[in-house]
Amino acid sequence: MRKLAVFGSTGSIGTQTLDVARTHPDQLQVVCLAAGSNADLAIEQAKEFKPQAVAMASEEAAEKVAHALGSSCVVSGGAEAVEDLGGHPEAEVQVHAITGIAGLRPMLAALRCGRHVAFATKEPLVAAGELVLSTCQEGGGRLAPIDSEISALWQCVGGPRGGAAGVERILLTASGGPFRTWPKERIESATVKEALNHPTWDMGAKITVDSASLMNKGLEVVEAMRFFQVPLDRISVIVHPQSIVHSMVEFADGSTLAQLGRPDMRLPIQYAIVAPERPRNAFEHMDWSRALSMEFEPVDMGKFPCLRLAYEAARAGGTATTVLNAANEVANAAFLKGEIPFGTIARTVEHALESHEPGPADTLRAAEAADSEARDRAEGFIAEGGGKGEVTA
Ligand code: NDP
Repeated sequence: MRKLAVFGSTGSIGTQTLDVARTHPDQLQVVCLAAGSNADLAIEQAKEFKPQAVAMASEEAAEKVAHALGSSCVVSGGAEAVEDLGGHPEAEVQVHAITGIAGLRPMLAALRCGRHVAFATKEPLVAAGELVLSTCQEGGGRLAPIDSEISALWQCVGGPRGGAAGVERILLTASGGPFRTWPKERIESATVKEALNHPTWDMGAKITVDSASLMNKGLEVVEAMRFFQVPLDRISVIVHPQSIVHSMVEFADGSTLAQLGRPDMRLPIQYAIVAPERPRNAFEHMDWSRALSMEFEPVDMGKFPCLRLAYEAARAGGTATTVLNAANEVANAAFLKGEIPFGTIARTVEHALESHEPGPADTLRAAEAADSEARDRAEGFIAEGGGKGEVTA
């Protein structure tokens, strides 16, 4: 029986993680839940799974949850309460699925205590990769990726018992998002509704917008570079609209291995929790008896400047990727609120990166300072009208 904590339990990955727990009641016991402000769903989840502790980032939500659950579990509120839960003595295996940089401190708290961290949240590895990896090593923790592409690569190299030795090239597949076939000018003024209409995956709003701009793929390039410790020039992105091949690894001898499956996050979630085991589940499998075609095409960097900016930030390293992430979080949120056009997301990120001199992101202080500075710069840029022109080459 593994004791499981779910960070971001009320979100897309969080609810699917609880589905995985429902599928394996004999193997997984939910002991902690953490979320932001959705008190009603957190109460429902706590009543079903009976955890020992619940933490809500919103104090108001925590009060509501505490009132509903009475003395049946310990409920706490505020960002610090969520962070502290990372070190809960019972939380052996933890799924981290809090959107954005807010997930960094809870993840570090877990790694410091030597926990098995199954992470969907990619922003901490992008914003403070060196720090996350060194904390994991020093604390004796374990990182297991959930993101479907990174999980696919991990499965191709043998999961927890494998390694990236002999890997010649990492091939990250991208669905191309809803704007794959659109001309550049139309993408520039895409609406929120259009950006949220992802062709293959059903996910939270932030990552769905990141998928439309291909910033999500850019974040994954950085995530893969840091997680597998593979040089950036060995990581390529290929568009694969059907999202069946979740990513591929090419080895030095020319052999390429791919991981395939339905676009269902419950599979990589389950793998990240129990790998290298592959317990049977009730999830729908691929129907290989049906006719099926799969397409692959090169990515059009000119149409998706966010991906190019991510490569540039990854090349610069250190706090450049902290800035990339922070400026993108600000611009993504502004776009979702209808404050800026879609094209301004890339312009905001570019502006923040241009005026930044990268340094090491190896301490929490350095990463948080670069994050906060980039947020100010991005907010200022948006407030001043957010540069209406093209993103420079
Ligand atoms: P959602 O927006 O659906 O869920 C986000 C979760 O984080 C919610 O439970 C939310 O709580 C919680 N949350 C937000 N802010 C805080 C905070 N400050 N403290 C505590 N909890 C907080 O996002 P997704 O599940 O789609 O994505 C989560 C992460 O996983 C992202 O980093 C994303 O990139 C990554 N990911 C997601 C995939 C997917 O298929 N969805 C695939 C691969 C990676 P509440 O709602 O209660 O406010």
